[in-house]
Amino acid sequence: MSKKRVVILGGGFGGLFTALGLSGSADVTLVSDEDHFVFTPMLYEYLSGEVEEWHIAPGYTELLDENVNVVQGRVTGIDMSAHSVTIEPLDQPLTYDVLMLSLGGLTNYAGVPGAEQHSIPFRKIQHADRLRQTMVAALDHVPPDLPPQDVKRALTFAVVGGGASGVELSTKMADLLRDAFKRRNLPGEPRVLVLEMGDKVVPGMGEPIREYVEQALIEAHVELHTSTRVVKVSENSITTEHTGKQEEIDVAAVVWVAGVRINPVIQQLPVSKNARGLINVLPTLQLVEHANVFALGDIAYVPDAAPVLAGTAQLAFQEADLAVDNVKAFLSGRELKKRHFEELGETVSLGTEKAAVLTGGKAFGGPLARQARFALYTARLPTWHHRLRVGASWFFGGTSPRPLLPLGFERSA
Ligand SMILES: Cc1cc2nc3c(=O)[nH]c(=O)nc-3n(C[C@H](O)[C@H](O)[C@H](O)COP(=O)(O)OP(=O)(O)OC[C@H]3O[C@@H](n4cnc5c(N)ncnc54)[C@H](O)[C@@H]3O)c2cc1C
Repeated sequence: MSKKRVVILGGGFGGLFTALGLSGSADVTLVSDEDHFVFTPMLYEYLSGEVEEWHIAPGYTELLDENVNVVQGRVTGIDMSAHSVTIEPLDQPLTYDVLMLSLGGLTNYAGVPGAEQHSIPFRKIQHADRLRQTMVAALDHVPPDLPPQDVKRALTFAVVGGGASGVELSTKMADLLRDAFKRRNLPGEPRVLVLEMGDKVVPGMGEPIREYVEQALIEAHVELHTSTRVVKVSENSITTEHTGKQEEIDVAAVVWVAGVRINPVIQQLPVSKNARGLINVLPTLQLVEHANVFALGDIAYVPDAAPVLAGTAQLAFQEADLAVDNVKAFLSGRELKKRHFEELGETVSLGTEKAAVLTGGKAFGGPLARQARFALYTARLPTWHHRLRVGASWFFGGTSPRPLLPLGFERSA
């Protein structure tokens, strides 16, 4: 008897881990617009050169065996009545017996004029590469005899969004830039701003870890602007509004990490969704209307998960486990399971030398927490083989940051 066809859309935390778990038990196809997975929690370390691309963005062909077909293409439409998915550039739609929706989210520019055109998003390897190149180019353009206040203006970077991403990114950028100032004998200091609409940073994080975060922002000289709305972004400036007053600030670059929007493919689906546009799934991760379609990760709303888990890899990763069990059960006619999703602890990178870790309700910070973060994340990488290779590389090769060298040296590094 031929195996049932399971099609998984998206190869991130939800999709890849589901494909790994289902390999061999069905005719599995993974569809992704990229040829690699990205371990997003360490994209900051990739920006700073503490980790290399192969550590955090292994190709699907390295991770998946021959039991999973990988299709590289962009999903453009889903027809649930025909059980088919349209993919660019495939001529024919892919048909399925079971469909897994795990397309994740996209950067949300919230309609701010110029934001999408002029800011750098931070979700993919190429975004981190672009940001690093922009920082290097800005440093390279500073003439040797420029007065400190002009250097500061030329090397002002704005990070929009004061969530964990904004904090991790800004402290990393500040450390890298300050190191580059020393190496290049530049006068004064760089300026890294975090612009946050709410009245505090990392609103979802508990108090114990917040203390480390706030201290790290101060030590990294990151300028924090809360209750500040970005109203416009242009090629070389950003306009903010605080207590009704607008200010235009010259910037070398704007990085946008202020939110996630729903993938348009999911937006078009005529299925039950919550007020934020997330797909309402049953506790088994099945869609309310289609028993053979499952959804997980950033696009799904699952009732039995702590609110702090919303939009996190740790939720997608746990859901993938349940999805694997339930797809197998569905295919063999067994009863499907439910699961309560736990908070697995938290870790934030705080510059190139420190981090903070929250585990079992206790937080600790500093260089040791940075080591713990690497150890913890080694264990979360996909596949034993990849974990071992990366763990050995970090242990024996080290995890020092790579300085922002002038462009010619960056290229050859
Ligand atoms: C910089 C950054 C840092 C983060 N840090 C953390 C952290 O420390 N801890 C934590 O728990 N969470 C973190 N997150 C959140 C975490 O990455 C997401 O919650 C998680 O990736 C969601 O998994 P997912 O499978 O739903 O989507 P994703 O992992 O985003 O995967 C979606 C996949 O679908 C593909 N795709 C999208 N559209 C299409 C299309 N039309 N056609 C084909 N393929 C498509 C994408 O390329 C991707 O492979 C971070 C996110 C970012 C961006």
